[in-house]
Amino acid sequence: FLKGKTAIVTGSTSGIGLAYAKALAAEGAAVMINGFGDAQAIETERANLAAISGTEARYSAADMSKPEEIAAMVHDCAESLGGPDIVISNAGIQYVSPVDEFPVEKWDAIIAINLSSTFHLMRAAIPHMKTRKWGRIISTASAHSLVASPNKSAYVAAKHGIAGLTKTVALETAPHGITVNCISPGYVWTPLVENQIPDTMRTRGLTREQVVNDVLLAAQPTKQFVQPEQVAALALFLCRDEAAQITGANLSMDGGWTAA
Ligand code: NAD
Repeated sequence: FLKGKTAIVTGSTSGIGLAYAKALAAEGAAVMINGFGDAQAIETERANLAAISGTEARYSAADMSKPEEIAAMVHDCAESLGGPDIVISNAGIQYVSPVDEFPVEKWDAIIAINLSSTFHLMRAAIPHMKTRKWGRIISTASAHSLVASPNKSAYVAAKHGIAGLTKTVALETAPHGITVNCISPGYVWTPLVENQIPDTMRTRGLTREQVVNDVLLAAQPTKQFVQPEQVAALALFLCRDEAAQITGANLSMDGGWTAA
């Protein structure tokens, strides 16, 4: 149902972002992927997305901490693929430390990549959407857009910021056929999460099962990870005409975490 539409997904060389890109491509969208990683692996993914969609797929190496590179990425999409009709702001990083020891440069990087990049992306993309009177803007927020955990001051501040930015821009763009929403997953099974398990087992003297159930899924009542494909399926629904009246929403997908 997305044939003829174009989408930018930031941070889509891995994890949730890659699942969004695949889901959009499977519906026929021309996708521009973005993020860091091995050049060969990225090229393989890009070619795979082109094959899945039956149309073009491109890669942008834009650094989400650099406003001018974000604007250039949107411009490049408009020139080469058209649009963008759909933008998914997903790139994100994490750093864990008590606030009084939090490195200033880590704070600045998290605010830039996890929050300000979404502003720059919206700012550059919305004029293109207004001309076509249709647009879908989706951000990956987090359960941490609604609740806090200790030692994650920058991440929690950035994700709460995404929820506020989403509401504000939804109000501004509502007359133009553009919807703006964010999705707030709990723990999602990505390489990022999986790779933490051996370290935590070692440093805390726990079994794999204990790390998963008592540490990672401690706050998630279903005791199951969210799957990247489940997050992508919700984003896909937000792109449908049936979702035209969903705007300004922060949609939780967290196994009940924030219900507690
Ligand atoms: P991931 O590490 O697998 O993917 C992050 C992506 O962002 C990668 O493609 C990486 O290259 C890219 N990236 C990082 N810094 C960048 C920069 N400066 N410029 C451009 N790209 C950059 O992580 P993920 O788990 O898939 O996370 C994706 C999003 O989902 C993040 O915003 C994260 O906060 C959010 N999230 C993740 C979870 C989880 O449990 N995994 C839960 C809630 C929210």
